[in-house]
Amino acid sequence: MSTPTPLDLLAIAASCLVLEQLLELFLRPRGVLRGPLSFALGGAAVWTLAATAVDIGGLSTSGVLVLAAVQMVSSWAVVLGGTWMALIISYRGHLVDPYLLALACTPAVAMVGLLATQPTRPLVVTRIVGTAAGSVIQWGPAFWAFTLAAGALVGVICALAVGATVATVRGQRRAMVIVMLLVAPAGVSWAFFVADPVSGRWSLVPPLLLSLALLIWAHLHHRLPGLAHLPITAVRVMREVQSGVVVLTPELIVLETNAAARAMLCASTCLQEDDLVGRPWREIVDPVLAILPGGGRTLTATTERGRVLELMVEDVGGDGTLPALVVAASDVTELSELRAHLADQATRDPMTGARNRRFLDARLPSFVAAVDRNHDMSVLMLDIDLFKLVNDLHGHAMGDRVVIAIAEEAAAALPPGGELVRTGGDEFLLLLPDTDEVAAAQTGDLVRRRCAQLQFATHGPPVRVTVSAGVAHCLPGMSADDLLSAVDRALYRAKDAGRDMTHA
Ligand code: GH3
Ligand code: MG
Repeated sequence: MSTPTPLDLLAIAASCLVLEQLLELFLRPRGVLRGPLSFALGGAAVWTLAATAVDIGGLSTSGVLVLAAVQMVSSWAVVLGGTWMALIISYRGHLVDPYLLALACTPAVAMVGLLATQPTRPLVVTRIVGTAAGSVIQWGPAFWAFTLAAGALVGVICALAVGATVATVRGQRRAMVIVMLLVAPAGVSWAFFVADPVSGRWSLVPPLLLSLALLIWAHLHHRLPGLAHLPITAVRVMREVQSGVVVLTPELIVLETNAAARAMLCASTCLQEDDLVGRPWREIVDPVLAILPGGGRTLTATTERGRVLELMVEDVGGDGTLPALVVAASDVTELSELRAHLADQATRDPMTGARNRRFLDARLPSFVAAVDRNHDMSVLMLDIDLFKLVNDLHGHAMGDRVVIAIAEEAAAALPPGGELVRTGGDEFLLLLPDTDEVAAAQTGDLVRRRCAQLQFATHGPPVRVTVSAGVAHCLPGMSADDLLSAVDRALYRAKDAGRDMTHA
């Protein structure tokens, strides 16, 4: 046995620390990379320890053979762990299943099998050379085939890791590059070992560098933003995001869609991504969305399925690259319903549900303007007669009941497109489109008669009320104020003439 070199001591220390990291991994909450990391950490620590023991030397032949087997199994575990991890970070984790993993262990098991019997042993280990610096294993052809297979898997790992690094979002790319730079020296030293297997100089370096890389990686884990998480690719973001995204050529041919876009925009038959790519936009979307506005513009439309969609169209490629259009779609049905509800509430009187003054101020000018387009427009103003008395004799609550009931009667008499506005405490204005003066007066009389029939129960005799009505016909050139003054004067005349009547 030779004296352990500083490299041997470093290797022992590194593998102990890696084993500690492995233990910590099991104590921490479950993470998606826990399985492959356990393979890699455990494999690296055992591989390093076994290679160190051989390097120190002083072992019997069978001892070296056992350690050779251990090295092959543990290095294979590292490669399998790495492949597994690379599949997960490149979103191919679904390819890994326990049977496949068991199958993937067979090359290492086969190596151990070959080593275990005397006739096949030289295929793996041809000779063990004892030198002053320790033992050196001279490997046979089966070992080199095994190494080739491991090299192929390392190639797969590199390709997947580089792919994931390129595709990931910017915030994670730096962390992934650092990890790859950490692991790269171990890979390079492995190439040195393959190139010079006889001297035994390189047999300890790859596992040692790998253990050191894993140790630094474990310590950086919580310090480098993004490293503790799976890489997030632009494709992944497209897939998960709630907004629909469609990329189109300038001729409006679909280049890319995400699931949200397919669910939102498609006419029901085309739901598969492959069905959409290469097809014209207008063929796949709801007809109301067929014509897109120019870049930077928004289109809001209600689809045949009754959903309100908001489409933002953006031109990309203004920087000289090939142009394309990106359509970002959001389903704003609930939002637009809420908006419409709030807008409606803002123009209503909460007690009677009739429109309020704000509505009248906004709507009356266009109502009056319709007269100039040959429409017959009239207004009817109602006011409860001697309403103060109802309040004074029966209380405010009874007064409220009366106001609500009168509003209901007035609303029931509205023609299509008409509106009822509560313009004062006991005063209502009815906007009567396509109604001449005679028809408006008839409506006034109808409401008046119905109101006179209302009875409001009390402890004593029921409360009854009457209303007075004024009518004004809107003439061409009249302003909103003119019309209101006219109907006000008509109501005043009805009151003046003794109440419970309609006046023009
Ligand atoms: P007139 O026949 O001349 O209209 O006599 P009136 O007593 O009805 O007089 P006026 O229309 O001026 O009185 C309206 C009264 O309605 C005054 C106010 O106390 C009452 N009032 C206003 N808003 C409400 C309300 O929301 N609820 C109740 N209970 N009373 C109201
Ligand atoms: Mg009144």
